[in-house]
Amino acid sequence: REPLIEVKDLEVHFTVKGGGLLKRSTKTVRAVDGVSFSIRRNETLGLVGESGSGKTTIGRAILRAINPSAGEVIFHANGSPVRVDKLEGRELRRFRNHMQLIFQDPYGSLNPRMTVRDIIAEPLICHPGGSTGSLNPRMTAGEIIAEPLEAANGNLSNKEINDRVRRIAAKCKLNLEHLRRFPHAFSGGQRQRVCIARALVANPSFVVCDESVAALDVSIQAEIINLLADLQREMRVSYLFIAHDLSVVAQISDRVAVLYVGRLVELAPTEAIFFEPLHPYTHALLSAVPTVDEDVPFEPIALEGEVPDPSDPPPGCRFHTRCPYAVERCAQETPQWREVRPEHFVACHFAGELDLRGKG
Ligand code: SF4
Repeated sequence: REPLIEVKDLEVHFTVKGGGLLKRSTKTVRAVDGVSFSIRRNETLGLVGESGSGKTTIGRAILRAINPSAGEVIFHANGSPVRVDKLEGRELRRFRNHMQLIFQDPYGSLNPRMTVRDIIAEPLICHPGGSTGSLNPRMTAGEIIAEPLEAANGNLSNKEINDRVRRIAAKCKLNLEHLRRFPHAFSGGQRQRVCIARALVANPSFVVCDESVAALDVSIQAEIINLLADLQREMRVSYLFIAHDLSVVAQISDRVAVLYVGRLVELAPTEAIFFEPLHPYTHALLSAVPTVDEDVPFEPIALEGEVPDPSDPPPGCRFHTRCPYAVERCAQETPQWREVRPEHFVACHFAGELDLRGKG
């Protein structure tokens, strides 16, 4: 399948000021540091990593809710490539019709003063004289993406907007009565259905689901994941599904990418990640999944130590301070990102040579 989105050597670095006596000092946080991958049409790519690994930053850089420091984000809209990282002003605003974001917090991301109908309709309504499309530093990432778009949808009539809202609401199992209510009357699962309906009402090609089920009970998580999968089949949308929990990612992803301190360490089809992981960090993450099949042919390893500070990452392989297989070379030489097996990419000097059963 051809790519919908290509991310090449993406870097997002932030400068932060020190506190207390260090107020005058600044440091650079390398939140994302040379990440490359693609997302195919109608595909779900899962992106996993511990808190602070940079996964949310990658999602937001693709959507241009934050600006990349370097690298390329290419969107293959209707066959012709568009450099998303270069878009500004009106072009960027128009472009956002293709992309949407579903948040983690279904409680905080819905305006309590708007009816559910108006919330879902938001991306369809053209506000002349609205934002220029350049990034507004006073807006959160959520507000930027949820901002009403200058419609590729054109100026839709009220009837068209209502028809579209009802259609997507029905797909998300929300009825007419639900549309008249305010969000406070809804459970977490219903609120997340509203968020999904809002994200998909303008028929985007690409949606970032950022920890979109993390705040929900396990039984509701499964319902929402099934709903996302059904909508993908029907609407042919691609997802970047961001989560810290590999077992959640496995339920919906075609391929999984694993991130550690701002760099990808492994990317492969979901089955290969689960049953034949080649990077010790992926192996450790899998060890933390309690429901992994008993047939999985390796012993658990527990990770020791803290995640390194992204403003001062370790040299060489960033995982070497916690890796049970590390040797001297690992602290000196950055491992190449290479295709060790077909479609299976790994950044480890010894990928395919390690016996992941040996460190139980
Ligand atoms: Fe571990 Fe070395 Fe491989 Fe890094 S390169 S994952 S430290 S064995």
